[in-house]
Amino acid sequence: MRTGRCLCGAVTYEIAGDLLATAVCHCDHCQRQSGGAFSVNLVVRASQLTVTGDLQTYENRGQNGEVCVRRRFCGSCGSPIVSVMTQPAGIVAVKAGTLDDRSAVAPTVEVWCVDRQPWVELPDMAVSLDRE
Ligand SMILES: [Zn+2]
Ligand SMILES: [Zn+2]
Repeated sequence: MRTGRCLCGAVTYEIAGDLLATAVCHCDHCQRQSGGAFSVNLVVRASQLTVTGDLQTYENRGQNGEVCVRRRFCGSCGSPIVSVMTQPAGIVAVKAGTLDDRSAVAPTVEVWCVDRQPWVELPDMAVSLDRE
């Protein structure tokens, strides 16, 4: 069982079962939300994630104006906790930096490489995509 929490501790969570993937996302929106160069995401089914505490939601819209990701975060400290995909439905991306034990995090996929900052060098991934 993987466990994690936000910076202030008002929100905690558990992830049951195996990860579908661990994905680095270089997209502009992840850079802005995280304040970093990319996000690291534990991709799981929504049913595997149990959150305790209140999350706020930012509805992130794509270029076509449709909500593509619901970004959920602690309203007290602002830590991003999980992004809920609209496509494919039922899949969520838990922000790996909020895990209690990050020693086993091993990215297998990177996406939105078109937005990767030029100084970022990561180990070769099994899958590397220009776009989501
Ligand atoms: Zn918090
Ligand atoms: Zn992203």
